Amino acid sequence: MNLRANATEVIYLDYNATAPVKPQVSKAIAEALAMTGNPSSVHQFGRAARDAVEEARDQVAKMIGASAAEIVFTAGGTEANNTALAGAGRKRLIVSEIEHPSILRAAESLASDRSGSSGNSGSDGGGEYELIMLPVDSEGIVSIETLDQALGANADDALVSIMLANNETGVIQPVAELAALARARGALVHCDAVQAPGRIAFDVSTLGVDMLSLSAHKFGGSKGVGALYLRAGVDLQALVIGGGQERGHRAGTENVVGIVGFGVAAHLAGEDLQRAPHLATLRDTLEQRLREIDPTVRVFGGGAERLPNTSCLSMPGVQSEMQVMGLDLAGVAISAGSACSSGKVEPSHVLRALGAPDAETGCAIRISLGWASGEADVEKLVSAWRAFYAGMSARYTGAARAG
Ligand code: PLP
Repeated sequence: MNLRANATEVIYLDYNATAPVKPQVSKAIAEALAMTGNPSSVHQFGRAARDAVEEARDQVAKMIGASAAEIVFTAGGTEANNTALAGAGRKRLIVSEIEHPSILRAAESLASDRSGSSGNSGSDGGGEYELIMLPVDSEGIVSIETLDQALGANADDALVSIMLANNETGVIQPVAELAALARARGALVHCDAVQAPGRIAFDVSTLGVDMLSLSAHKFGGSKGVGALYLRAGVDLQALVIGGGQERGHRAGTENVVGIVGFGVAAHLAGEDLQRAPHLATLRDTLEQRLREIDPTVRVFGGGAERLPNTSCLSMPGVQSEMQVMGLDLAGVAISAGSACSSGKVEPSHVLRALGAPDAETGCAIRISLGWASGEADVEKLVSAWRAFYAGMSARYTGAARAG
């Protein structure tokens, strides 16, 4: 699909960063914008807004096999993740090394707070947090044995947080097995499923988790709205405090517009699932074509079960940022498999956890397809990549000759 960015036709292949909003979602959002009421008001305007929010809650709940009462709307995946870690009241945090920064930084921040108070003045009396990081194997998977060791015989003081699918590599974790083990030892289990809707089929009872995070903008909804699934009976201290919205779990007037769009996107996620095998074929073709250009291309997590839309690979010899900029100039939007902090490009913590050498992580790019992607996008990417690579090789060869 050609998406217009600054009047230039650009192929968008960065769905794991954010997906384009679906037309049906835009329409529903526009209609919701025309609604005046605050969902907490008792008059008819308020009741109409409340109905819209509750319909969306039903739609989101259905998508993950939960009941509507188990959905807490948040301002996105980051807030859902932060809330789960800080609000569960468990002081031993067990997380994998490849989690999203909204889990890793939140866990580190709790663990570095020596008083144990995370701003939840009503929590269970403080006490120090302990953080245990679970390593992954060379494909990026957390093993049962590693979790087993971290849990110990009794884990009723622990919260385990493992993502369903990694945002950089797309690698899928054996969450159901990990959760069964953790819960059998008394731990609470949270799962960051932000990258999964519309890409793989899943539901909360098969996964067997206590909490699960979602974000609307990864599958056709708008940015800044998400949800935390909270299994009935699980206690949670609110992170955002104020009014009693979301049954006391998240204060603040609801983002009615975003929530309505989230509901529609959730309702449509089933269509994306039907297209998932086609996306996997496109993704596999793409990887095969790139390998034909350079057989030393490495696909990270290529031997594991992955999301059908995601490819994280290293193109030897050219820094990630150069590739992203070069392809952007050629009209293809992808992302680097690295993080940019304080103006310095750092190798990705995910690829490092896989044990990939710096020479590979520094050249990593992520291509992620989605609901509007088709063959033409893959064709354009491959030819842009080929031209870019040829240009870079010529430059290096020329420089070597000149030197
Ligand atoms: N978790 C994962 C795996 C993600 O990929 C992201 C976003 O990139 C988030 C959490 C954060 O979600 P949000 O952008 O809604 O805050």
